[in-house]
Amino acid sequence: MAAGVRLVVLGKQGAGKGTQCVRLSHRYAVPHISTGDMLRAAVRAKTELGKRAASLMDSGELLPDDLIMAMVAERLDERDATSRGFVLDGCPRTVAQAEMLDRIVGEGGIDLVVDLEVPTDQVLSRLVSRRVCVDCGSIYSLSQPPSQPWVCDVCGGQVVQRPDDKAEAIMVRLQAYERETLPLINFYAARGILETIDGTRHPDEVLRSTVEVVERRRGEPR
Ligand code: ADP
Repeated sequence: MAAGVRLVVLGKQGAGKGTQCVRLSHRYAVPHISTGDMLRAAVRAKTELGKRAASLMDSGELLPDDLIMAMVAERLDERDATSRGFVLDGCPRTVAQAEMLDRIVGEGGIDLVVDLEVPTDQVLSRLVSRRVCVDCGSIYSLSQPPSQPWVCDVCGGQVVQRPDDKAEAIMVRLQAYERETLPLINFYAARGILETIDGTRHPDEVLRSTVEVVERRRGEPR
């Protein structure tokens, strides 16, 4: 079986993190841990966390660091992640979260941080046309709809626009990214574990480049 990996994927909203993370998790047989997906599941299940998260998420604002990291710590402690690794999507999103993540996994606990780079004008057009399945999270767009109008090809769920993919929330999310998440690029670059990948290309190409950098890094002495 392929070796596992401990990967963090960074990138603006709409950079293609979700798509790549699903593929990377299959490639390396590790869980795809997406804080956004976990929170949306909590909102649907109406848990205490979900009730706290819903309005902040809809308006595009970040949730408190402690809340997020307690959820992530619990997930990373599960057997699949402790034994094979993980692809972490949507976390860390602030320097404080990155420092907490170090405490959870240890400083050498992340093999590689991949930054998917896509210019803001391109992510904006991707986000406004994005549609997602409410049940399984499969991603479509106005130009690539499911085969039956707005019924998910994968699970038959309803395909809708995410509330935070409306124009005002998109601006709030992108501003939060610039203010809170961009500093992580320097944080991980200084540690020598950051790789920047051109996310404007076809998803297959993006995956190929990402796998290449993972494999190249594996071959290097640590
Ligand atoms: P996005 O495409 O905006 O990055 P996600 O699905 O990753 O979407 O996250 C949706 C929302 O969930 C965010 O806008 C935020 O409210 C909340 N969220 C997810 N991850 C985090 C995190 N690491 N820290 C704070 N809030 C988060």
